[in-house]
Amino acid sequence: MRALVLPAVSAPLELVQRPVPEPGPGEARVRIEACGVCGSDIFLQNGGFGADKLPVVPGHEAAGVVDALGPGSSGVAVGDQVAIYYIANAPGARRPNIGPDVVRMGVDVDGAFADYVVRPVSTLVVPPRRVDPATLAVLTDAVGTPYHALVRIARVRPGETVAVLGVGGIGSNAVQVAVRLGARVVAIGRSEEKLALARELGADAAVRLEDAAAAIGPDGPDVVVQCAPSARLDEAAIALGGYGARIVLVGTTVDPFTARASDIVWRELSLMGSRGFTPDDIREVIDLYLDGGLVTDHLTSVQRPLEEGNAALDDLRAGRVLRSVLVP
Ligand SMILES: [Zn+2]
Repeated sequence: MRALVLPAVSAPLELVQRPVPEPGPGEARVRIEACGVCGSDIFLQNGGFGADKLPVVPGHEAAGVVDALGPGSSGVAVGDQVAIYYIANAPGARRPNIGPDVVRMGVDVDGAFADYVVRPVSTLVVPPRRVDPATLAVLTDAVGTPYHALVRIARVRPGETVAVLGVGGIGSNAVQVAVRLGARVVAIGRSEEKLALARELGADAAVRLEDAAAAIGPDGPDVVVQCAPSARLDEAAIALGGYGARIVLVGTTVDPFTARASDIVWRELSLMGSRGFTPDDIREVIDLYLDGGLVTDHLTSVQRPLEEGNAALDDLRAGRVLRSVLVP
């Protein structure tokens, strides 16, 4: 099979031939139909997860078809379409997405920039009916991540004001999910193109950061979802929060930011982290999509063959796309 390997920090992806992997007990082999190219892949390439993770095959936002089952594997059948939850956690872990033992596909083990992956069947989600493969792939991370932040972490309620910082591959979907939750949504971004996208996705207002306070109003937002990997915007998110606001950091950088206790105490801010998503988030996002509550065209319009993985990363790095989808 073909796979795209990231050999070392800052190196380009290399297309290699590998033996087709065989599923072990409790595992399934999935023929990859689509895998999104995400900001985390750039973070990986930049050494953000550590140089010791490399070489690895990236790819954590994937969908495909079950191709073979290992001994004793049940719960999915050969031929089932599946969305792949990229994390395998220790049995009995309290939460699927965090803990000391998480094993992440595309970071800790080889991922889905490849023709096939082998995954524990417990990490596979079968949609209720067939979904376009590129859409199913991006529903996992690009939509599941802001869904997790808004629903599980911030617990957004109808009528609340949600400010979304950063209208990229995650933030654009924070906008549409927050709209579906009944929130008043103010999107904050830089480029006019992305602000226009945020309006298309239902934002009540879409403005640049310097205009955000005026657009939000004197009470400030109830929730700020910070989707951009920027310490400066982490600080901006805290500065924006209204009295009693929940500040949810989703975008990840290793750069430090500065906050004063008085910033947080005097407004009773809650500072929260939201890491990725869970299989339940994937299920709920698929249902929301099938009910007509979400669009994915802005994520799936650029599809490339595996051979063009480096071009897909370049496009993302240069801000030319919110997402590309590799279709092996
Ligand atoms: Zn990702």
